[in-house]
Amino acid sequence: MESATPDDCCVKVAVHIRPLIGDERLQGCKDCVTVVSGKPQVQIGSHSFTFDHVYGSTASPSTEMYGECAAPLVDGLFQGYNATVLAYGQTGSGKTYTMGTGCGDSSQTGIIPQVMNALFSKIETLKDQIEFQIHVSFIEIHKEEVQDLLDPSTINKSDVGKVATHVPGKPPIQIRETSNGVITLAGSTEVSVTTLKEMSACLDQGSISRATGSTNMNNQSSRSHAIFTITVEQMRKINTESTENGAYSGSLKEEYLCAKLHLVDLAGSERAKRTGSDGLRFKEGVHINKGLLALGNVISALGDEKKRKDGAHVPYRDSKLTRLLQDSLGGNSRTVMIACISPADINAEETLNTLKYANRAR
Ligand code: ADP
Ligand code: MG
Repeated sequence: MESATPDDCCVKVAVHIRPLIGDERLQGCKDCVTVVSGKPQVQIGSHSFTFDHVYGSTASPSTEMYGECAAPLVDGLFQGYNATVLAYGQTGSGKTYTMGTGCGDSSQTGIIPQVMNALFSKIETLKDQIEFQIHVSFIEIHKEEVQDLLDPSTINKSDVGKVATHVPGKPPIQIRETSNGVITLAGSTEVSVTTLKEMSACLDQGSISRATGSTNMNNQSSRSHAIFTITVEQMRKINTESTENGAYSGSLKEEYLCAKLHLVDLAGSERAKRTGSDGLRFKEGVHINKGLLALGNVISALGDEKKRKDGAHVPYRDSKLTRLLQDSLGGNSRTVMIACISPADINAEETLNTLKYANRAR
């Protein structure tokens, strides 16, 4: 739609700086990232960057971050707007902690648990007037292949923590686009949920079955993009009553709205050489970079107002990640990128890369 206000088109970018963690303290790392007081600005070495929001390691950023970054997107869902929250950063920078896609530690403070809480609180207040249908899916993109994290046949309860594998004979999940531009995932599990508890169970289940690969930096880290998607369908019955010329007339109109929110824990942004691993790992690195590279190009094309006005090409088709997010990035949808960084001096080079990437998105 051409009537987009400036607020609609921009991608909001926040930075989340985690505290120094145990290992870094043991190694005697120094904090090399400074937050400019009272401003959403960070400094590293001689570089300075300004974002929409900066969450430092001193405060307890989780509720503030939720309120500023995600709450408006949850509200938008009820008005029919698609949205995407992306956590970007090198392995170990806090993406999983920020999103809440880990197993345990950030199970309440992460963005996703807070989204789920808010969603069901809101539904509770509206359920008398509106009929809701909520679905979740949880997939990951690994080496340009979509894998289902909620497929009951790949979840082996006795093998908790093992890699989810593709079941032979099952057709691969395909990203499709309907004639009206809606992106669908053919072949992935869509779980219908009615309570917070059921939705949390999906998050937990998928987090456990998420494929992980060990690297030099963090053996829990994932080399895949994990995408938790909440779809909200609303059926609203509108009573149109009128008393024209003293005669009462009433009819019941139905309004249908559907919107989805993608919550994305992206693959580590460090370059392949950093993982210093074998050929296989390197290949994964190359593929992961493809998604992150395409995402950077898409977001930067969306943010460039002049280009958009000229109807410039937005390269959604360059990766599975951007293809899947196509109807929830740009247009009428809202996007927030949270760049996660480590404050440690040993990570300065990657931190600078992350800040540059995030800066390009503005
Ligand atoms: P990533 O997903 O980017 O690889 P993680 O989310 O796994 O990184 O975080 C790496 C480590 O840092 C974990 O041990 C995590 O608990 C810790 N951590 C991350 N962010 C924070 C934070 N804001 N506060 C405290 N600890 C954090
Ligand atoms: Mg992670």
